Amino acid sequence: MFHKTSSLFPEKGRPQKEVLSELQERSGKDIRWKEGRSFAYVYQANKQLDDFVQQAYLSYMKENPVNPGAFPGLKQMAEEVVNMAGKLFHLPKGGSGTFTSGGSESIFLAVLAARNRFLKNKPNRQTEIVIPSTGHPAFHKAAHYFGMKARIAPVNKAFEASPQAMQALINENTALLVASAPSFPHGIVDPIAEIGKVAIQHDIPLHVDACVGGFVLPFLKRGGVQIPDFDFAIEGVSSLSADLHKYGYAAKGASLVFFRKTALRRESFFAFSDWPGGLYGSTHITGSRSGGAIAAAWALIQHLGLEGYTQLAMQAWEARQKILSGLAAFPELYVLGKPQLSLFALASDQINIYDLADQLGALGWYIERQQAPPSLHFNITAAHQEVADDFLQDVKKALEKMNGKKSFGFRQTLSDCLLKSLHRLLPEKLFTQIRRQAAKLLPKNRADSPSAPLYGMTESLKKTGNLEELIKDFLE
Ligand SMILES: *Cc1c(COP(=O)(O)O)cnc(C)c1O
Repeated sequence: MFHKTSSLFPEKGRPQKEVLSELQERSGKDIRWKEGRSFAYVYQANKQLDDFVQQAYLSYMKENPVNPGAFPGLKQMAEEVVNMAGKLFHLPKGGSGTFTSGGSESIFLAVLAARNRFLKNKPNRQTEIVIPSTGHPAFHKAAHYFGMKARIAPVNKAFEASPQAMQALINENTALLVASAPSFPHGIVDPIAEIGKVAIQHDIPLHVDACVGGFVLPFLKRGGVQIPDFDFAIEGVSSLSADLHKYGYAAKGASLVFFRKTALRRESFFAFSDWPGGLYGSTHITGSRSGGAIAAAWALIQHLGLEGYTQLAMQAWEARQKILSGLAAFPELYVLGKPQLSLFALASDQINIYDLADQLGALGWYIERQQAPPSLHFNITAAHQEVADDFLQDVKKALEKMNGKKSFGFRQTLSDCLLKSLHRLLPEKLFTQIRRQAAKLLPKNRADSPSAPLYGMTESLKKTGNLEELIKDFLE
């Protein structure tokens, strides 16, 4: 479908108008987020607000906050956003924050600070982080980058982090504890007050990952929804991340990380004085980036105010209520745990839930698949209010279509669903090759059924850790 010169560096340039129209064309197969048909990746309020954010972004697109001294206006906007949001999260005096490029960078800075704090007192140790199994992969990525060991604490039956299970994994190398407000997979706020007590008892920093919830929890509370404490109001919380580019509805490239004590933030800084290019200091993982994300976030906060954000949070909440009560009419579907926000996971013991996602996909909806247990992930935003009825209609249609069709007889795991998406994305030849190899690993009788190779492949890949290699193959 793409232009035939796509892999050639053009000898002669092309007219701007033509190129711009090709840009439009190339989004043709994207998920249909502008119509509210995606429950992932794009957090949409409404078109009018999105246009405003875009305008604000463009006004600072070329500016580069890598040297704050060169762009004092941007520096001030970033500081103002940090200070305004700090109050939302009860950041006490003596605390500070950094405006980052996203949740991952916020998490990286918090993990790095905790690691450096630990190593200052006890050098040359193998530092460890205790992460609930529902904690975001960004913590594992940070551990991987910073040479730390990640210890995974199982969650309880309600998908909440277990303070006891976390405590059991603490040892003399533990540099950081993690809790989510809420967890991304299930939208469940961990028992942060209790985990905070464990953190204080062992004198270990606790990071609260409010990346997805940070810009909705305080506003739901203002709107009268019952929300547990999750932030610096809890004594044991030493750092917190919150993404402006999720329920803050800002442009991508905007997140915040806060530290209860400025001395802890300082552990995330980098300085180098021996470069011929001059003295170099950095508060970030990234170097150069666009000033647009800072300007857009600042502008949106100015435009919406607490009132506007509360309204958006409540709109998303009402859309969630509408969709959840509609889904309750289908006895084969249920929600995992008790989600407290506008995101949740949908599961089933009677149908193959991935099939439902496929069916809804054919009807133009985009829904992420999750594992252990298999479920579908819904991020409800303000924009879903208008499409809630259509969506519920389509769920009915999809279930009717699936009715009577037996689901596959093999255990569903993310690896299965990953393989399904790999199948969609990989060249057919490569996929067939992988399948054939997997089939060889199976006992003869198992290899007969068409689903067996798939089953065998995912299980054996999981056992040997090769599934992660396969993901890397895909990324390559
Ligand atoms: C999105 C998310 C992250 C990672 O943030 P990015 O902006 O994608 O880098 C981390 N934690 C949670 C809970 C999230 O929802």
